[in-house]
Amino acid sequence: MMNTSSGPENTEKSGTHAFPNGGKYFIRTFGCQMNVADSERMAALMGEQGLEPTENPSEASVILLNGCTVREKAVHKALSTLGEYQDFKYRKEKPVIGIGGCVGQLEKATLFKRAPYLDFVFGTDTIDQLPEIVHRVKHGERHVVYADFDRSQDYSTETKIEGSKSQAFVNIMKGCDKFCTYCIVPFTRGREKSRTIDEVVEDVVQLVNKGVREVTLLGQNVNSFGKNNPNVKEREPKELHNIIGKVGPKAGDENFPQLLRALDTDPRLKDLRRIRFTSSHPLDFSDELIECYQPADKGGVSKLCNQLHLPVQSGSDRVLTKMGRHHRIEGYFAQMDRLRAINPDVGLSTDLIVGFPTETEEDFQQTLALLDRVQYDNIYAFAYSPRPGTRAAKLPDDVPNDVKNERLNRLLKYQLKIAEKRYASRVGKTLEILVEGMAKNQILAAQLPEGEKGTVWTGRSGCGRVVNFLNRSPRNLTGKFVNVKITSATGLALAGELDEGEVLL
Ligand code: SAM
Ligand code: SF4
Repeated sequence: MMNTSSGPENTEKSGTHAFPNGGKYFIRTFGCQMNVADSERMAALMGEQGLEPTENPSEASVILLNGCTVREKAVHKALSTLGEYQDFKYRKEKPVIGIGGCVGQLEKATLFKRAPYLDFVFGTDTIDQLPEIVHRVKHGERHVVYADFDRSQDYSTETKIEGSKSQAFVNIMKGCDKFCTYCIVPFTRGREKSRTIDEVVEDVVQLVNKGVREVTLLGQNVNSFGKNNPNVKEREPKELHNIIGKVGPKAGDENFPQLLRALDTDPRLKDLRRIRFTSSHPLDFSDELIECYQPADKGGVSKLCNQLHLPVQSGSDRVLTKMGRHHRIEGYFAQMDRLRAINPDVGLSTDLIVGFPTETEEDFQQTLALLDRVQYDNIYAFAYSPRPGTRAAKLPDDVPNDVKNERLNRLLKYQLKIAEKRYASRVGKTLEILVEGMAKNQILAAQLPEGEKGTVWTGRSGCGRVVNFLNRSPRNLTGKFVNVKITSATGLALAGELDEGEVLL
């Protein structure tokens, strides 16, 4: 019989570890960077319980699945992966199995019907309760659900990372108030709430003290960061303006450009080298944020990377209106033109949906024209998938799947040609790369003349491009900033070579 309990109000608190003899945890993540950041937090919490990470679910005492619900396919993927762990429950040493993230938030106890061997479900706001939940399950409870939203007005947290890292994701806000008609995020992540600027700065100081050199500020729409946080310190800019209207934080609230400037100028953050952020919405993409991309000597934010991900979703005004995006394509172009005029080197990327209800070939052609006009480095494109409870789910899903898939493929091929040209223009230049680790593909090293040895490393430039490069010295470059001379390019990545003397930090 199902014994569904709901936390955290009927929680049995415990100071003791659920695994006094140690053990291992395994985490599988689906979805966006927000989910990746949540999984890092889960990993840190399991580490605090004395558990070690493992890549092999069969040797884990705790298996956690962090699922995405943005598209139906992603939900199926998470549930079929869960099925792969079912047999472990027939062992003498049974693992504790839980599923969380947006899937847990949305599906709650219904997941036990589909997967009775599952021990617990947690949501997007209850990750910090994981040790407690695991403890309860370890002590005999089954089918535990912790998927309540945190209803408080404020959002306060502290970034948790495992081990030493040069990059970290920092949640600066949560939720979304935009309610685009196709999107389930406002239902799985709740209403928008921001941390205070002081809290985020303190958090980043702690990360930098631990060796972090690049932070990615995360939120569903970081451009509206600060809404309802009074600007008690009178930080500048006090008010935001936008070519296409004004929706973000009001005058007198904290705002995103203030946060960027606070991180750029805090003397304790001199070792922080790069700031990125994602994601953004054109309605809140302010002139003041565009100004942050200026060169530092002209009043820009010196640590801000030359990169912007600004989702547009479609090139057709008709479709944008149906999507509830509340802006027109000309306004988006005006924003991009202003940004490029200030800083022509910014690498742009976007999200696009094809096959939204009623999308015609003509609408789709306008999306292709958008790619020509904006010249993105990269796009993330998706076939429309109706999501339960959203306004668009009430519209007939009238673009057949084969048409959606054909448009998706055509879009990706079209973009690849644009990216090839854009990437080729970097050949011969030297770019600063933060090295993420050894590249999976070591072909460049295998092609060296006999007797010569080298390793291929991979990392990202400030403008967000993946760069694979060869280094002939045996030195481990993970976490280092290096200058790499670009020697060749495809539409997906750049390749180059490094002199050992070019290691910067
Ligand atoms: N808040 C972010 C934003 O607005 O860019 C990210 C939202 S969502 C996690 C990432 C992308 O998934 C969206 O930008 C959109 O392109 C896509 N997406 C969201 N709902 C979708 C749906 N129902 N079908 C297909 N793609 C969808
Ligand atoms: Fe979803 Fe729109 Fe919010 Fe992005 S801005 S999370 S697409 S509702």
